[in-house]
Amino acid sequence: RAKRSEIGASAVFDEALHGWAARRLDVENGLRQALRRGELRLHYQPIVRAGDGFVERMEALVRWHRPGHGVLGPAEFLEIAGEAGLMPQVDRWVLRLACAQAAQWQTPVPIAVNLSPIMFAQPGTADLVTAALAESGLPAHRLAIEIPETLLGNDRPIVTETLKAIRAFGVEVHLDDFGAQYSSLARLRDFKIDVLKIDRSFVANIDDPTNRAIVRAVAGLARSLGIRTVAEGVETDEQLRELQDAQCDFVQGYLIARPMTGQWATDFAARGAGSVVHHQADP
Ligand code: C2E
Ligand code: MG
Ligand code: MG
Ligand code: MG
Repeated sequence: RAKRSEIGASAVFDEALHGWAARRLDVENGLRQALRRGELRLHYQPIVRAGDGFVERMEALVRWHRPGHGVLGPAEFLEIAGEAGLMPQVDRWVLRLACAQAAQWQTPVPIAVNLSPIMFAQPGTADLVTAALAESGLPAHRLAIEIPETLLGNDRPIVTETLKAIRAFGVEVHLDDFGAQYSSLARLRDFKIDVLKIDRSFVANIDDPTNRAIVRAVAGLARSLGIRTVAEGVETDEQLRELQDAQCDFVQGYLIARPMTGQWATDFAARGAGSVVHHQADP
C-alpha cells in the first residue's frame, strides 16, 4: 500500500511538474513574441501629495495584453520573465515607452519606472536611462527610477556606481516596498535615495499600534535624512488620515486611483491640485 501511494504521489507530482513546465514554456515563448509584437502596455498610477491630493507623479506599471488570455498583470509573468532571462528586455522596453509616452503628455507630470535587480548587476543600465531620455526628449527631472528593496543587500560596486550615474543625470532614485523584506537602515545611508516607498503591508495594518509606530518611525527617520516618503496601497480614509498624521509626504493606492491608461492618467493629472479625489478607472 505504501508503494502504491508513493506511485500515486509521484504521478501527481510529475503531472504538476509537467503542467508547470508547460505553462512556463508557454509564457516564456509568448513573452518573446509579445516584446516583438508590442503586446506589452503601460498603465499609470498616480502618487499624490498626502495633504491636498496634488498629483506628484505617475508610476508606470506593465500589463500584457495577451491575445486569447486577456490582460495579464506583472504577477502573472514577471517571475517567469526573470527565470527566462527576459527581464532586461522587459525593463528596457518599459523604460523607453514610459519616457516616450510621458514626453507626449500635455501635462508635464513626472513619472516613476520600476527596474528589476538584474539591471543593476549588469553594465549599460545608466546608458540605457540616458538613451531613453535623449530619444524621447523627456527632461531628466521628470523621471524617477524605482529600485527594489532587495538591492540594498547587494554591495557590489556596480550597483552603487549605476545609481550614482543615474542620479548625476538628474533622475531621482526611489526605494520601492521598503520594509517588506530586507531592511538595513545603515544601507539607507550608503545608498543615496530621494524617496522611500513604505510597503503596502504596513499601510494595510496601520490600525495595529505596532505598525502605526513603525510607519511613524520610518517617516520620521526618512525626514531627518532628507528623504521623502510615499505610503503604498492606501485603500481607506482611515489609512489616509493615519498617514497624514504620520507626516508621510505622498500616498498611492486604490483610494486615490487605480492604475489607468495613459489617456486617463493625463486627464487625472491635468486636474492638478485638489482634495484627494476618489477616482476609479480601468481596474
Ligand atoms: P510595485 O512597484 O510596488 O507597484 C505597486 C503595485 O501595487 C501595483 O501592482 C499596483 O497595482 C498595486 N497597488 C497599488 N495600489 C494598491 C492598493 O491600494 N491596494 C492593493 N492591494 N494594491 C495596490 P502591479 O501593477 O500588479 O505590479 C506588481 C509589481 O510588479 C510592482 O510592485 C513591481 O514590483 C512589479 N512591476 C510592475 N511593472 C513593472 C515593470 O515595468 N518593471 C519591473 N521591473 N517591475 C514591474
Ligand atoms: Mg514600484
Ligand atoms: Mg511598490
Ligand atoms: Mg509594492
